[in-house]
Amino acid sequence: MKITFLGCAGGRRVTFKQHRGSGGFLIEGETAKIHVDPGPGAFIRAIQAGIDLEEIDSFIITHRHLDHCADINTLIEAKTMGGWNPGGEIIAPNDALNGEDPVICKYHRKHLNKIHVLKENFETSIKELNIKTALKHVHHGVETYGLIFKENSVNLGYVTDGRFEEEILEAYKNMDVLIVNTTFKNPRELDHMCLKDAITIAQRLKPKLLILYHFGMEILRMGLTKAAEYVEENSKIKTIAAKEFVSVNVKNHISVNKIKLKNPIGFTPYWK
Ligand SMILES: [Zn+2]
Ligand SMILES: [Zn+2]
Repeated sequence: MKITFLGCAGGRRVTFKQHRGSGGFLIEGETAKIHVDPGPGAFIRAIQAGIDLEEIDSFIITHRHLDHCADINTLIEAKTMGGWNPGGEIIAPNDALNGEDPVICKYHRKHLNKIHVLKENFETSIKELNIKTALKHVHHGVETYGLIFKENSVNLGYVTDGRFEEEILEAYKNMDVLIVNTTFKNPRELDHMCLKDAITIAQRLKPKLLILYHFGMEILRMGLTKAAEYVEENSKIKTIAAKEFVSVNVKNHISVNKIKLKNPIGFTPYWK
């Protein structure tokens, strides 16, 4: 399994000043390709990385906040070539699909093969890759679900946005790699986690690799590498900070690499 990050932005300012990318991340299994939480700029970041969006099998939105879904309609158009080549799937909570103010246009949905409603106990497979809900998170009143991805013997957990709860320590057991949305440096009375929560999660769940992700300004000021070092020192669990265009390969061992951009300025070349 390979995870390629197209961003690591979390808070408003980091996202909307684009201090870091906010394109979500791509999961590639043996054959399945899944784009998770495509926030603002996901389309262009994917082009920069040289990802062929027509090859994406499924888009997943953990919740309807814009930093997790802003580019979804554009990506469906890119996947289906504006509806010429229908196909692909989307997995999203009910309030993102069918709420008062859905984030996925009905017109674009028509071009997909399947629409899955993400909920508690949800489970599906995209080719050989199994996806299931780990936990419904408490997050600013919107339906939000953390996920577990499994293929062969590799388990990846994605602890998406939400308040720290004891249930997290049960729901994400036995993961090889755990991505944790660690928005704040210090604890705050908001539905987001901080470095202290990431340390508790790492200590208790003991993944082989912890990936901090979804950063607000406090952590940017501290420095992403420093934040990861702080969590690793205190938890004794190998920790990295997600950065755009970094990929993590998980097989017998885990390797972290910076990818070479195919289209650095965000255009695919076309010459006559
Ligand atoms: Zn978020
Ligand atoms: Zn959110």
